[in-house]
Amino acid sequence: MKNNRVVIIGAGLGGLQCGYILAKNGYDVTVLEQERVVGGCLQSFARRGTLFDTGFHYVGALGEGEALNRLFTYFDLMSLPWKKLDADCFDEIVIGDKSYPYAMGHNNFYNRLVEYFPHEREGLKNYIALLKRVGDHIFDNLKLKEGEKSLSNTYFAQSAYKFLTETIQDPILRQVLSGASLKMELKADTLPLYTFAQINDSFIRSSWRLMGGGQQLVDKLAHSIERMGGSVITATAVISIVEKDGRVAGVRADNGNFYEADWVISNVHPALTVSLVEEGSMMRPIYRRRIKSLENTFGMFTANILLKKDSLPYINKNIFVHKADTDMWNVRFDRTESVLVSMPAQPDDVTYTPSIDLLSPMSWQEVVKWADKPAGRRGEDYVTFKQAKTEQCLQLIEHRLPHLRDAIEHIYTSTPLTYHNYTTTNQGCAYGIRKDYDNVIMTMLTPRTPVPGLLQTGQNLNLHGIMGVSMTSLYTCAEILGLETIRKEINI
Ligand SMILES: Cc1cc2nc3c(=O)[nH]c(=O)nc-3n(C[C@H](O)[C@H](O)[C@H](O)COP(=O)(O)OP(=O)(O)OC[C@H]3O[C@@H](n4cnc5c(N)ncnc54)[C@H](O)[C@@H]3O)c2cc1C
Repeated sequence: MKNNRVVIIGAGLGGLQCGYILAKNGYDVTVLEQERVVGGCLQSFARRGTLFDTGFHYVGALGEGEALNRLFTYFDLMSLPWKKLDADCFDEIVIGDKSYPYAMGHNNFYNRLVEYFPHEREGLKNYIALLKRVGDHIFDNLKLKEGEKSLSNTYFAQSAYKFLTETIQDPILRQVLSGASLKMELKADTLPLYTFAQINDSFIRSSWRLMGGGQQLVDKLAHSIERMGGSVITATAVISIVEKDGRVAGVRADNGNFYEADWVISNVHPALTVSLVEEGSMMRPIYRRRIKSLENTFGMFTANILLKKDSLPYINKNIFVHKADTDMWNVRFDRTESVLVSMPAQPDDVTYTPSIDLLSPMSWQEVVKWADKPAGRRGEDYVTFKQAKTEQCLQLIEHRLPHLRDAIEHIYTSTPLTYHNYTTTNQGCAYGIRKDYDNVIMTMLTPRTPVPGLLQTGQNLNLHGIMGVSMTSLYTCAEILGLETIRKEINI
């Protein structure tokens, strides 16, 4: 086959999925990853023999016939030990001293919440109807004919906040429907309706944890690529993208090698991609400036807590705890308002959890003053800052998990600085580039770049998260294989 050499920069989920699709279609794939392990945000790490995840807690729509199930069947990831969360309450939303359940399935979700908000039957029906519509049409972009507009095109250009406030009158119910907020950056003046609806819909359809951690996803993809004849090379950073005669020609890596390629796919943050492209290329300064000026979403503070043996029962759901007066659509960083409590999936016959994760929004501005100091040598004030944040998180969830403090053996913390350093996530942003419904053209990036043969993939383009990145890998590979092949590959 001609023009079949593909180099992929970064072995995050997006890069590996593209590698999988192209290797399966006979392309000669080389994935270059700067870290010693693959996975980017999906890396797992061990502390005192206990496994923790970097950026993975649960996924949605993995049930039979659902969208991620279709994709993961294709990527051969369905045989991993998935565990379904409690159908009656997969996410518990705690606001002040009140608690509300998210139940799985559109009807169950509606029925459980109507018990609390009987006066909002109509609003809830409309809310669910929109989510379902978006979820039902998730593959439409792959089926569009020339000139057609998809639901995602329409809803990306509408405000999620406006939809919610127009659909739901009761301000408490609005808070509840925004309560699983840490899945995306809820920002009233930017968040597109499509992001809000698609992500909430997929988790309402069904929600799943993975026993043994997220690393398994990326390890399995990497092995599949190698089995199909490709290579995944770790501890090798790309230092420049080279263009020749108006087309991408390959990449230079920090091991001194030049990797020739007919196609280069960048799985790294677009601001980094443009700085890797050599000056004087087809990529004009105006494009570079535009990409570099895009804003990032906020980051995440994480406390990975190792627990004493048999001290805290495993809970098969996530708990989102918010202060009573939290405005979820205008996150404040001068106090800790919201914490997600999550546990690693345990087999059915296991009663206790070995660990628990707490996540809370944190901005880059809060940590930027330590950015030029190396990890582990950021000084006492950084340690004190992290301890104070941990304490605020523990205080916020104390009324919901009163026995947690006694169960703690050790706490490991990370901030946006940690993500910035270890996964090269620009400014440690948790959800990639901020998309703005009011400025779709500038903030939504396509896989294509101005350099022919240089494509992009990953969470910064379309949607973040496992589902978003998986969908984007299809769009990216469609640029090489064509839509028809992609449709056949995933059988739609
Ligand atoms: C705290 C947190 C919790 C999350 N929880 C969930 C969850 O529960 N469910 C969910 O669906 N999503 C979750 N996400 C989101 C999800 O993890 C990400 O959207 C997804 O993993 C991003 O994948 P990616 O391929 O776009 O990028 P990345 O994972 O960022 O991969 C990019 C890769 O490129 C490599 N790289 C960078 N520069 C170079 C270079 N010059 N040369 C070679 N390699 C390079 C990096 O090392 C990295 O491996 C979470 C994210 C965070 C931060």
